[in-house]
Amino acid sequence: MGVFDEVKERVTARAVMERAGIVFNRSNMCRCPFHQDKTASMKVKPTDKKYFCFGCGEKGDAIDFVGRYYNLSPKDAAMQIADEFGIAYDSSVRSPPKPVRREKSPMQILAEAKTKTYRVLSDYFHLLKKWERNFKPKSMDEIDARYEEAVQNLPKVECQLDILLWGTEEEKEMLVRDLGKGVEDIERRVNEYLRNQGTVNHNRQRSCEAVH
Ligand SMILES: [Zn+2]
Repeated sequence: MGVFDEVKERVTARAVMERAGIVFNRSNMCRCPFHQDKTASMKVKPTDKKYFCFGCGEKGDAIDFVGRYYNLSPKDAAMQIADEFGIAYDSSVRSPPKPVRREKSPMQILAEAKTKTYRVLSDYFHLLKKWERNFKPKSMDEIDARYEEAVQNLPKVECQLDILLWGTEEEKEMLVRDLGKGVEDIERRVNEYLRNQGTVNHNRQRSCEAVH
Protein backbone atom coordinates (compact mmCIF):
# COMPACT_ATOMS: atom_id res chain seq x y z
CA MET A 1 0.00 0.00 0.00
CA GLY A 2 1.12 3.53 -0.70
CA VAL A 3 1.66 6.11 1.95
CA PHE A 4 -1.80 7.62 1.54
CA ASP A 5 -3.69 4.40 2.06
CA GLU A 6 -1.51 3.30 4.96
CA VAL A 7 -1.92 6.59 6.77
CA LYS A 8 -5.62 6.91 6.07
CA GLU A 9 -6.22 3.41 7.38
CA ARG A 10 -4.07 3.61 10.46
CA VAL A 11 -3.98 7.15 11.75
CA THR A 12 -6.96 9.03 13.12
CA ALA A 13 -7.44 12.77 12.88
CA ARG A 14 -7.47 12.88 16.65
CA ALA A 15 -4.01 11.28 16.85
CA VAL A 16 -2.33 13.84 14.60
CA MET A 17 -4.13 16.69 16.35
CA GLU A 18 -2.95 15.60 19.78
CA ARG A 19 0.50 15.22 18.35
CA ALA A 20 0.26 18.83 17.19
CA GLY A 21 -0.42 19.85 20.79
CA ILE A 22 -4.15 20.36 20.51
CA VAL A 23 -5.94 19.77 23.79
CA PHE A 24 -9.37 18.16 23.99
CA ASN A 25 -11.87 18.47 26.79
CA ARG A 26 -13.97 15.65 28.15
CA SER A 27 -16.58 16.06 25.51
CA ASN A 28 -13.91 15.63 22.87
CA MET A 29 -14.11 19.25 21.90
CA CYS A 30 -11.13 21.44 21.13
CA ARG A 31 -10.43 24.93 19.87
CA CYS A 32 -10.23 25.01 16.13
CA PRO A 33 -6.74 26.02 14.98
CA PHE A 34 -8.12 27.24 11.66
CA HIS A 35 -10.21 30.12 12.87
CA GLN A 36 -10.26 32.51 15.83
CA ASP A 37 -12.04 30.06 18.04
CA LYS A 38 -13.07 31.47 21.41
CA THR A 39 -15.07 28.44 22.40
CA ALA A 40 -14.25 24.88 21.51
CA SER A 41 -15.94 24.36 18.18
CA MET A 42 -14.26 21.26 16.92
CA LYS A 43 -15.36 17.83 17.95
CA VAL A 44 -13.10 14.88 17.35
CA LYS A 45 -13.57 11.63 19.21
CA PRO A 46 -10.48 9.49 19.77
CA THR A 47 -11.61 7.01 17.16
CA ASP A 48 -12.61 9.63 14.63
CA LYS A 49 -10.75 9.44 11.37
CA LYS A 50 -12.07 12.86 10.46
CA TYR A 51 -12.35 16.22 12.11
CA PHE A 52 -15.00 18.84 11.67
CA CYS A 53 -15.32 22.38 12.97
CA PHE A 54 -18.80 23.64 13.79
CA GLY A 55 -17.45 27.17 13.74
CA CYS A 56 -15.78 27.47 10.35
CA GLY A 57 -16.71 24.23 8.63
CA GLU A 58 -13.13 23.07 8.23
CA LYS A 59 -13.02 19.30 7.90
CA GLY A 60 -10.96 16.41 6.68
CA ASP A 61 -8.87 13.44 7.69
CA ALA A 62 -5.44 13.17 9.31
CA ILE A 63 -3.63 14.02 6.10
CA ASP A 64 -5.84 17.06 5.49
CA PHE A 65 -5.24 18.26 9.01
CA VAL A 66 -1.46 17.97 8.88
CA GLY A 67 -1.36 19.48 5.41
CA ARG A 68 -3.40 22.47 6.50
CA TYR A 69 -1.82 22.87 9.92
CA TYR A 70 1.79 22.74 8.75
CA ASN A 71 1.11 24.03 5.27
CA LEU A 72 2.29 20.88 3.49
CA SER A 73 1.25 19.22 0.27
CA PRO A 74 -0.92 16.12 0.77
CA LYS A 75 2.00 13.90 -0.12
CA ASP A 76 4.38 15.61 2.29
CA ALA A 77 1.72 15.56 4.98
CA ALA A 78 1.15 11.84 4.51
CA MET A 79 4.89 11.15 4.61
CA GLN A 80 5.35 13.23 7.73
CA ILE A 81 2.59 11.33 9.48
CA ALA A 82 4.03 8.02 8.35
CA ASP A 83 7.43 8.99 9.75
CA GLU A 84 6.06 10.20 13.06
CA PHE A 85 3.83 7.21 13.58
CA GLY A 86 6.36 4.70 12.35
CA ILE A 87 4.25 3.54 9.46
CA ALA A 88 5.99 1.62 6.73
CA TYR A 89 4.74 2.12 3.24
CA ASP A 90 5.61 1.11 -0.23
CA SER A 91 7.09 4.23 -1.77
CA SER A 92 6.87 2.74 -5.22
CA VAL A 93 3.09 2.97 -5.07
CA ARG A 94 2.12 6.29 -6.46
CA SER A 95 -1.09 7.48 -4.98
CA PRO A 96 -3.22 9.38 -5.21
CA PRO A 97 -2.64 9.90 -8.86
CA LYS A 98 -1.84 13.48 -9.58
CA PRO A 99 -4.65 15.20 -11.41
CA VAL A 100 -3.65 15.09 -15.02
CA ARG A 101 -3.42 18.52 -16.48
CA ARG A 102 -4.84 17.96 -19.89
CA GLU A 103 -3.70 20.05 -22.75
CA LYS A 104 -6.60 22.07 -24.04
CA SER A 105 -7.84 20.92 -27.38
CA PRO A 106 -7.91 23.41 -30.25
CA MET A 107 -11.73 23.23 -30.04
CA GLN A 108 -11.66 24.24 -26.39
CA ILE A 109 -9.25 27.08 -27.02
CA LEU A 110 -11.45 28.36 -29.79
CA ALA A 111 -14.61 28.08 -27.71
CA GLU A 112 -12.97 30.03 -24.89
CA ALA A 113 -11.73 32.66 -27.33
CA LYS A 114 -15.26 33.06 -28.69
CA THR A 115 -16.73 33.52 -25.24
CA LYS A 116 -14.08 36.02 -24.31
CA THR A 117 -14.40 37.94 -27.56
CA TYR A 118 -18.14 38.21 -27.06
CA ARG A 119 -17.78 39.39 -23.48
CA VAL A 120 -15.16 42.00 -24.31
CA LEU A 121 -16.97 43.29 -27.37
CA SER A 122 -20.25 43.59 -25.58
CA ASP A 123 -18.58 45.51 -22.72
CA TYR A 124 -17.02 47.78 -25.29
CA PHE A 125 -20.34 48.15 -27.08
CA HIS A 126 -22.08 49.30 -23.91
CA LEU A 127 -19.29 51.72 -23.17
CA LEU A 128 -19.50 53.19 -26.67
CA LYS A 129 -23.27 53.50 -26.37
CA LYS A 130 -22.77 55.43 -23.18
CA TRP A 131 -20.19 57.70 -24.79
CA GLU A 132 -22.43 58.32 -27.74
CA ARG A 133 -25.16 59.43 -25.33
CA ASN A 134 -23.06 61.35 -22.85
CA PHE A 135 -20.59 63.13 -25.07
CA LYS A 136 -22.82 64.27 -27.86
CA PRO A 137 -21.13 67.48 -29.11
CA LYS A 138 -22.89 70.75 -28.49
CA SER A 139 -21.04 72.39 -31.34
CA MET A 140 -18.95 71.14 -34.25
CA ASP A 141 -15.81 72.68 -32.76
CA GLU A 142 -15.87 70.62 -29.66
CA ILE A 143 -16.11 67.00 -30.53
CA ASP A 144 -15.13 64.75 -27.68
CA ALA A 145 -12.76 61.97 -28.67
CA ARG A 146 -15.02 59.47 -26.94
CA TYR A 147 -17.99 60.53 -28.99
CA GLU A 148 -15.91 60.24 -32.12
CA GLU A 149 -14.75 56.81 -31.14
CA ALA A 150 -18.31 55.75 -30.44
CA VAL A 151 -19.63 56.95 -33.77
CA GLN A 152 -16.72 55.42 -35.58
CA ASN A 153 -16.73 52.01 -33.92
CA LEU A 154 -20.32 51.32 -32.94
CA PRO A 155 -21.51 49.96 -36.31
CA LYS A 156 -18.46 47.75 -36.54
CA VAL A 157 -18.75 46.40 -33.01
CA GLU A 158 -22.47 45.85 -33.42
CA CYS A 159 -21.84 43.86 -36.55
CA GLN A 160 -19.17 41.79 -34.82
CA LEU A 161 -21.52 41.01 -31.95
CA ASP A 162 -24.16 39.99 -34.46
CA ILE A 163 -21.76 37.56 -36.03
CA LEU A 164 -20.85 36.10 -32.67
CA LEU A 165 -24.51 35.68 -31.81
CA TRP A 166 -26.09 34.67 -35.06
CA GLY A 167 -23.28 33.83 -37.44
CA THR A 168 -22.25 30.40 -38.65
CA GLU A 169 -19.47 28.66 -36.76
CA GLU A 170 -17.18 29.47 -39.65
CA GLU A 171 -17.95 33.18 -39.48
CA LYS A 172 -17.44 33.23 -35.74
CA GLU A 173 -14.11 31.47 -36.07
CA MET A 174 -12.96 33.86 -38.71
CA LEU A 175 -13.90 36.86 -36.62
CA VAL A 176 -12.16 35.51 -33.52
CA ARG A 177 -9.02 34.81 -35.53
CA ASP A 178 -9.16 38.21 -37.22
CA LEU A 179 -9.48 40.07 -33.98
CA GLY A 180 -6.78 37.97 -32.36
CA LYS A 181 -4.86 39.92 -29.78
CA GLY A 182 -6.92 43.00 -30.56
CA VAL A 183 -9.49 41.68 -28.10
CA GLU A 184 -7.02 42.08 -25.29
CA ASP A 185 -6.35 45.66 -26.34
CA ILE A 186 -10.05 46.42 -26.21
CA GLU A 187 -10.42 44.69 -22.86
CA ARG A 188 -7.52 46.69 -21.44
CA ARG A 189 -8.98 49.88 -22.83
CA VAL A 190 -12.43 49.25 -21.37
CA ASN A 191 -11.03 48.29 -17.98
CA GLU A 192 -8.72 51.24 -17.94
CA TYR A 193 -11.56 53.58 -18.72
CA LEU A 194 -13.84 52.11 -16.10
CA ARG A 195 -11.03 52.38 -13.57
CA ASN A 196 -10.28 56.05 -14.15
CA GLN A 197 -13.76 57.05 -15.12
CA GLY A 198 -13.85 60.73 -15.85
CA THR A 199 -10.11 61.13 -16.18
CA VAL A 200 -9.80 59.37 -19.48
CA ASN A 201 -6.84 60.08 -21.68
CA HIS A 202 -8.25 61.12 -25.00
CA ASN A 203 -5.11 60.24 -26.87
CA ARG A 204 -5.83 56.59 -26.37
CA GLN A 205 -8.35 56.62 -29.14
CA ARG A 206 -5.95 55.12 -31.60
CA SER A 207 -5.77 51.84 -29.76
CA CYS A 208 -9.21 51.05 -31.10
CA GLU A 209 -7.93 50.79 -34.59
CA ALA A 210 -7.18 47.25 -33.53
CA VAL A 211 -10.90 46.65 -34.11
CA HIS A 212 -11.33 45.90 -37.74
ZN1 LIG B 1 -12.85 26.33 12.77
